[in-house]
Amino acid sequence: MRESAIEKYLARHVILMGGETRKAQWIGRAGAPDRRVMLPGRTPFWVELKATGEKPTAQQVREHNRMRRLGELVYVIDSIEGVIALLNPPKS
Ligand SMILES: [Mg+2]
Repeated sequence: MRESAIEKYLARHVILMGGETRKAQWIGRAGAPDRRVMLPGRTPFWVELKATGEKPTAQQVREHNRMRRLGELVYVIDSIEGVIALLNPPKS
């Protein structure tokens, strides 16, 4: 499945859950995750979307790891199933 279709699915379902997403791009730096996701009652997080079966570039992986080291939540998603799992985490 194409990245754009997975991204649309994510954005639509976040809205349906009462949240918001924003597309992101750094100024003067590569590797920003595609979207910031904000949901009621959840810590905001970042999502890098990829076409099904594709992996983030080395530059993206480096940037994600830099962000994670400093406490940011960054997820890489390449399928609708991945979006569903991310938006509906199992209750603990
Ligand atoms: Mg992407």
